[in-house]
Amino acid sequence: MKPIISKLPDLKTSIFSTMNALAREHDAINLAQGFPNFEPDVHLKSLVNKAIQEGYNQYAPMEGIFSLREIIAEKIEALYGAKYHPETEITITAGATQALFTAITTFVRPGDEVIVLKPAYDCYEPAIIANGGIPILVQLRDPLYEVDWDVFRSCITEKTKMVIINTPHNPSGGILRREDLKELEKSLRDSNIIVLSDEVYEHIVFDGQKHFSMSGDKDLASRSMVCASFGKTFHSTGWKMGYCAAPDTLMKEFRKIHEFNVFCVNHPIQRALATYLIKQEHYLDLNSFYQAKRDLFLEGIAGSRFRFTPSRGTYFQLLDYSDISEESDIELSRRLTIERGLASIPISIFNCSGMDHKQLRFCFAKTTDTLKKAVDILQTV
Ligand code: PMP
Repeated sequence: MKPIISKLPDLKTSIFSTMNALAREHDAINLAQGFPNFEPDVHLKSLVNKAIQEGYNQYAPMEGIFSLREIIAEKIEALYGAKYHPETEITITAGATQALFTAITTFVRPGDEVIVLKPAYDCYEPAIIANGGIPILVQLRDPLYEVDWDVFRSCITEKTKMVIINTPHNPSGGILRREDLKELEKSLRDSNIIVLSDEVYEHIVFDGQKHFSMSGDKDLASRSMVCASFGKTFHSTGWKMGYCAAPDTLMKEFRKIHEFNVFCVNHPIQRALATYLIKQEHYLDLNSFYQAKRDLFLEGIAGSRFRFTPSRGTYFQLLDYSDISEESDIELSRRLTIERGLASIPISIFNCSGMDHKQLRFCFAKTTDTLKKAVDILQTV
């Protein structure tokens, strides 16, 4: 056989794998890992057990069970005032990652351009490239990682097929404001550009602020694929459950790819979620749950040499170390892991051209005990 020509020749080991391996090797406290080190609600776990015992162990319908899609439609309407028909406009997916990949595969053809705002979560660009698309990278403005809408507009061409939006934003902890959605809507008006909106942290927004979903804006909703994750909301990232909501014309095409990608996703967990979602507090209480963790983390490092703007959403906090060291963020994150026993994620990896703002990302979806140990270390840096 001739040598394989890779579809993703430039892809390296992800920074998450690298930092997690380093954390394990040095028995470090792991605030690099972007997921909780605590369990989902016992009630939710018992609902999953119950569904398995009741025999929901064969394929679910391709688009997901109706009762789950129905309760999701009710949730979206209650929160954002948008109506999605559960029959035709909501599909249950294997996490947001599959929803994002399927949406990109559905719409992006070779040569199509897709605008990606950087720093960006790492699954977007490989999916675009694997489908022959061209990522057009637009750097968000430091220090608050805001969109420069003039720069954004200057990147739109007749080849632009899609823009990927992520709010609340990983890794910066920023959120889009109502004015940003207006700018986005204005920029895309009269075009056929699809918005792929990654809203996996929709229920983790702080200080009384509001999450502005693409689904809440009529014009944007008409061109948006909104992706969500139950893993983030219910501390169950290992279950890989999520969904996509979109107008029926877009969803019809999405399902053609979904059907031959996974056909359907985990049946007993869908049953459990359909019951669990009935109680709104199961997701509405998440803001205060994570705000308490963010505050514990930030109060713990008050007086340290790190500078920060409190995260406005997600369970990530950026810390600026420019008063502490000249090292690159990659060097410092390695050194903190090896010498101080605390792992984090360097941000430059996710920026355009590896731009280094001397910031590290810390995940505060951790127990109080872990967070206290982490801040004790950070106070000594
Ligand atoms: N988007 C963002 C911004 C994320 O942070 C993550 C998880 N780290 C995902 C998507 C993937 O979500 P899921 O685990 O549901 O596939």
